[in-house]
Amino acid sequence: MKLFVTGGAGFIGYNFIKRWQERHPDDEIVNFDVLTYAANRSDLPQLERQGYRFIEGDIADPVAVRAAMEGCDTVVHFAAETHVDRSISGPAAFLRTNVQGTLVLLETAKELGVQRFHHVSTDEVFGALPLTPEVKFHEDTAYDPRSPYSASKAASDHLVRAYYHTYGLPVTISNCTNNYGPYQYPEKLIPVLTLKALRGEPLPIYGDGKYVRDWIHVDDHNAGVEAILAHGKVGETYCLGGNAERTNLEVAAAVLSTLGKPEDQLTFVQDRPGHDRRYAMDTSKAARELGWQPVHTFEQGIAETVRWYADRFAAGTITGPDEQGVHA
Ligand code: NAD
Repeated sequence: MKLFVTGGAGFIGYNFIKRWQERHPDDEIVNFDVLTYAANRSDLPQLERQGYRFIEGDIADPVAVRAAMEGCDTVVHFAAETHVDRSISGPAAFLRTNVQGTLVLLETAKELGVQRFHHVSTDEVFGALPLTPEVKFHEDTAYDPRSPYSASKAASDHLVRAYYHTYGLPVTISNCTNNYGPYQYPEKLIPVLTLKALRGEPLPIYGDGKYVRDWIHVDDHNAGVEAILAHGKVGETYCLGGNAERTNLEVAAAVLSTLGKPEDQLTFVQDRPGHDRRYAMDTSKAARELGWQPVHTFEQGIAETVRWYADRFAAGTITGPDEQGVHA
């Protein structure tokens, strides 16, 4: 296989390439990333080996995309603007990358005749759930995005489906819940809380702290993407999640307990506008049709993740957080 991976310098894409190289050492990979503030530049050299090529480029640039995608049979599309808070203060970049950029990739993949276009998306396109455990998102849930970020991801999902129905492009889509794990830029909840705790600073918690997210380890997410590439049916969507619903207060408690710090470091800050109360995913289709299920428990995964950031902090190889971002 020759994969064209977009956003492979970002949190999930970087972990995806690492995993793929370990499991499919003979495959070739083009990592196409424009290197925004969220990209992990310092760890990129670790991916260098035969059959791997990094190309710095913008997915909204059709000429650069065409030149880089030529010869690839499979597109795995992670690149995006991803931070909800940033989308509230500046939505234009989200529309450009997440919608226009996806359109450029689809059009190029169609022209070049790629064999599979996998689009990585989010549960946030579905809106918000009540705090009733039996209600979850699933593949047939109606779209109801609430933030400029989720609206731009919803638009990109619709475009991907349109290219399947209109042009027969062989697409698949995954909608996944909140990821945690190593190599995440420290503006999202878990690295922010960890680094603030390590620096002895107050840990910011939005509103009442009772917002619920379904946390998945990044390797479980990427195993799901791999299973879709291997066994997924063209034209289908698969919902992926960690089956680990936790409030933000529970996440903060897990971070503090791993670090052996007291809970009096928590500080409640003004809520995000339009904040979705709960996300949770029914992953039974992926289990049934792909034989996929998450294998990391939240308790073990979060402890390993927190220790990973703590080790890097101690070594001086990670800084931040540089702002008050408190949610994925
Ligand atoms: P990230 O913000 O960590 O990384 C995004 C990467 O995309 C960066 O390396 C950035 O440089 C690159 N990029 C941004 N704009 C680009 C452009 N115009 N051209 C080329 N590259 C560009 O994001 P992430 O958390 O790794 O998310 C990856 C994908 O997974 C996104 O599509 C996101 O919507 C989706 N997703 C994320 C989560 C989560 O919890 N993080 C959950 C579900 C789905």
